[in-house]
Amino acid sequence: MKPPPFDYVVADSVEAAVAALARARGDAKIIAGGQSLVPMLNFRLLKPSILIDINRIADLAYIREHDDALAIGALTRHHLVETSPLIAKYFPVVAEAMRHVAHLAIRNRGTIGGSLSHADPAAELPMLALLLDGELHTVSSIGRRTVAVREFLRGALTVDLADDELLTEIRLSKLPPATGWGFADVARRGGDFALAAVAATVTVTDNVISEARIAMMGIGETAQRASAAEALMRGRTLEPALLDAVTEAVRASVEPNTDLHASSDYRRHLVGVLARRTLTAAWQRARGGQA
Ligand code: FAD
Repeated sequence: MKPPPFDYVVADSVEAAVAALARARGDAKIIAGGQSLVPMLNFRLLKPSILIDINRIADLAYIREHDDALAIGALTRHHLVETSPLIAKYFPVVAEAMRHVAHLAIRNRGTIGGSLSHADPAAELPMLALLLDGELHTVSSIGRRTVAVREFLRGALTVDLADDELLTEIRLSKLPPATGWGFADVARRGGDFALAAVAATVTVTDNVISEARIAMMGIGETAQRASAAEALMRGRTLEPALLDAVTEAVRASVEPNTDLHASSDYRRHLVGVLARRTLTAAWQRARGGQA
């Protein structure tokens, strides 16, 4: 199918993009990598009158180190995130997971801001941003705003972003020392959206788990944290009985949909298996071992 007709505006600065959004009064869409938007237009699921192209705003594509965080510009391409030495150093879980996002051609175009704004229930970046308690920076004609990823992700393809608001940056706070990580997914074919995935971090202090984070996707309307399972792990070591209890808590925390790819029961089972794998890897890495 072909998209409905639209006017096309190239914004060469954040200010120009924000002004164009304001002028459009809710009838415009930002186009970044176009990897999700263009199919939505072609299927006529969206019919904006105006597309505002932000691809020439060089100021929006960066990965910068701050004392306590990395700041990633919204227009940063997936492949840059995947191959960035800063991401590899501070967030190896992200570097690993990015290799599972679509195909290289899509990762060369797709952007972190586009993935977060689109919020596909089976996308890796919303899950990773949730895992890492990310903070998002936005701007509109009214002003700037900061929103926690936890609040930003509202549901399937639904986020806390007004029609006239531009996502500009994601900030990820650096992790404490002795934090290990794990990522695992199951997809029918390499490059497909995963049926389900889990990413986890485990921080070890004085030989016990001081903090565990478990984020999941493909199991509901949006990426989700397994908070009850995380709480079970604090102050403990990852012995088999705890791993069994955590697996059950993870499964109890999800209500997956049945669709043509997998049943709800299968996805619930799968997320438990993936949680076991990622937590075991994270625990081993936190203690200096190979996962
Ligand atoms: P666009 O398509 O340009 O935009 C997406 C939405 O976000 C639009 O509504 C747009 O208006 C809005 N938007 C974009 N940038 C901003 C901004 N800065 N501020 C406000 N709104 C903005 N993703 C995965 O995570 N895992 C996969 O396995 C995966 N597989 C894929 C397989 C295929 C065949 C395809 C085509 C895509 C796949 N994707 C996958 C999606 C891919 O990662 C997209 O790149 C991503 O979802 C959207 O990024 P984009 O930059 O292309 O956004």
